Amino acid sequence: MSMIYNKVALIGLGLIAGSMAHAMRRAGLAGEIVGTARSAETRKIAVEIGLCDRVTETAAQAVKEADLVVLCVPVGAMASVAAEIGPHLAPGATVTDVGSVKQDVIAQVAPHLPTGVHFIPGHPLAGTEHSGPHAGFAELFDNRYTLLTPVPGTEPEATSRLGRFWEGCGANVEEMPPDHHDLVLAVTSHTPHLIAYTMVGVADDLRRVTDSEVIKYSAAGFRDFTRIAASDPTMWRDVFLSNKQATLEILGRFTEELFALQRAIRTGDGDHLHDYFTRTRGIRRGIIEAGQDTDAPDFGRGASRQEDGPE
Ligand code: NAP
Repeated sequence: MSMIYNKVALIGLGLIAGSMAHAMRRAGLAGEIVGTARSAETRKIAVEIGLCDRVTETAAQAVKEADLVVLCVPVGAMASVAAEIGPHLAPGATVTDVGSVKQDVIAQVAPHLPTGVHFIPGHPLAGTEHSGPHAGFAELFDNRYTLLTPVPGTEPEATSRLGRFWEGCGANVEEMPPDHHDLVLAVTSHTPHLIAYTMVGVADDLRRVTDSEVIKYSAAGFRDFTRIAASDPTMWRDVFLSNKQATLEILGRFTEELFALQRAIRTGDGDHLHDYFTRTRGIRRGIIEAGQDTDAPDFGRGASRQEDGPE
């Protein structure tokens, strides 16, 4: 793979930006990788571990002459970052982001960008429950989808160049309207996270049990919930606040189904339960057949390198 952008600026240096830096280097996609983060501590770590070729103190400095700028901060921080970099962007630059919600990010970022700059929102469907500059690794995006949600009027050439870049990072790339993205992700990622947070919260409420048995005897199902519920609180707070409508819609449907299952248990309707679980097992098979997970007993997850849907 050859160089696609001369200078890539990463704003925010956590899991996703770090993984992008590693993946770019693996494939030689960027002439120079410049990064910045909010805190001096993160910037210092990034220099120490050589995460980027250069680390700047401010986002305004990082984007100077960059032909690709990637916003890798929590969704709730996109507007302030866009306001800072807007006046410093090079004409013809592409600005993208990796946020887990798309309509709200577009509303936050677009007003701050000058004409002549291409804004192509994106979302890599890959992640782990870890965060920070040490968390990234080059393989994170391999064979995962990155969704691009270009707004009307975007130059197709700028979009296909960004698509080639993500393919160089190992991803499968698809385009999708932003509102459809937010609904799909509410189903596949956001609501499942909320359910995991709730389940672990319920267990924690049962103090008597949590103090001993829940941890000691934690079965695979609960362990998976705790892994998901260990995801970054800031990131997930912002996801729910900014994908409010779609999450509430899916949560409403979830609650209806839950009540139906609750009723089947109460009335002893084994057929209902069996039919339901047969249908859901089929969905699991579909995911494996699509190459998005393995059927190994540990889901092929290894220590911590799993897709979080998450997002
Ligand atoms: P992360 O590891 O927590 O890193 C976030 C970075 O953003 C840090 O460098 C942090 O700087 C910076 N930051 C935080 N708040 C900021 C603010 N108010 N202003 C400026 N910078 C700020 O996060 P991540 O997992 O890489 O997530 C980044 C983005 O990717 C989020 O929008 C998230 O929705 C999306 N995403 C995440 C996943 C996932 O599984 N984690 C998957 C797909 C997409 P400091 O270190 O200095 O605080």
